[in-house]
Amino acid sequence: MAKKFYKVINIKNIAYNKICNIFFGEFWSYQKWKEVNMKIRYFDYAATTPVKDEVMKEMIPYFGKCYGNASAMYSIGREAKRAIERARCRVAEAIGASPHEIYFTSCGSESDNLAIKGVAYANREKGNHIITTKIEHHAVLNSCKTLEKQGFDVTYLGVKPNGIIDLGELINSIRKDTILITIMTANNEIGTIQPIEQIGEIAKKYNVLFHTDAVQAIGNIKIDVRQSNIDLLSMSGHKFYAPKGIGTLYVREGIAFEKLQDGGHQERDKRAGTENVSQIVGLGKAIELAYKNFDEYNKKLLNFRNFYLSEIEKRIPDAILNGDKEKRLPGNSNISFNGVDAQELLFKLDEVGICASAGSACSTGDTLPSHVLTAVGLNKDLAGSTLRVTFGEDNTMEDIEFLIQKLEELTYKLKK
Ligand SMILES: *Cc1c(COP(=O)(O)O)cnc(C)c1O
Repeated sequence: MAKKFYKVINIKNIAYNKICNIFFGEFWSYQKWKEVNMKIRYFDYAATTPVKDEVMKEMIPYFGKCYGNASAMYSIGREAKRAIERARCRVAEAIGASPHEIYFTSCGSESDNLAIKGVAYANREKGNHIITTKIEHHAVLNSCKTLEKQGFDVTYLGVKPNGIIDLGELINSIRKDTILITIMTANNEIGTIQPIEQIGEIAKKYNVLFHTDAVQAIGNIKIDVRQSNIDLLSMSGHKFYAPKGIGTLYVREGIAFEKLQDGGHQERDKRAGTENVSQIVGLGKAIELAYKNFDEYNKKLLNFRNFYLSEIEKRIPDAILNGDKEKRLPGNSNISFNGVDAQELLFKLDEVGICASAGSACSTGDTLPSHVLTAVGLNKDLAGSTLRVTFGEDNTMEDIEFLIQKLEELTYKLKK
């Protein structure tokens, strides 16, 4: 990693830097000048999203004049409490749940931990078997790994080459002692959407609880937890234009799960800690906006994605799309450029202000190939030549043209 980094800081830039430093001082070094003046084109919406202005506007009072502790009896405390409950209603409405089934957490990872470990600990006497997939986010996979160390038995289902699970295999893996199925709604790397309604039906039929990590799906797919028989669902604000550091977990009424953190009685005794009022308000506003503008946003992303894919197909003939072409998130593309080192490509794209990702943000810097790309059958080389481009609110067709142009040039130049 370090070696590659030094390779891209070429001699020319260092010379420019030195000269600029001597004449204009540190701030106006060449690098700084470039950074200040370069237009950023962001294509990494699956890693995180910017906070929408309307969201920020609604949050601001809760940093300032409404700073009360939501547990307090006086007016500004009650006002904070009301704001939290309003956000809870908005979340519930977006997924067809009841407000008292929504718990606020600090992030999507915490929601996944609380769902999986919480259900496992509360249902220990019923059984110790959990079913998940090989392509889950690490918040799910590592929660399962921890449970394995504590004596639970976990089945990791593979996926078909298109990135979707085989329902027959799911049914065959259910045992008498299975207590939980945890399968993501949509994948963060290849964007594939699992058949959650059918999974929900299967879980119900075999009397097993069903948790889904819907962090990538919220705002991109309509989900109704009752219709899909979902018992627990995780989401995270920063994937749909709310701030980082706020998540929620939906738990269907009547389902036993153990809290993971001891403390006060916040969140119906399931998640101790003074509520993060401003962030909760932001998440509530963002989810409301996401479903209010759903059709328009969906159409916009599909347009971007389809244009990008068809141009890449035309202009870079040996590029390969990973994951199902239809059953995937509207804004997701994941393409292997055979013979091109994705890390080098990312550095070159960064030099012209383009933000994209190799595989997933979480594995950038790792030397291991992505577990998701491995699961859909890519070898190490092909996985290492894969670029994830995810579209969102602030992209324009002109930006995408620029991206395609640069990819055409760079993949040609970097090809071994
Ligand atoms: C981002 C992400 C998470 C983790 O959410 P954080 O809020 O960043 O902890 C979990 N699962 C999936 C599918 C994600 O994309």
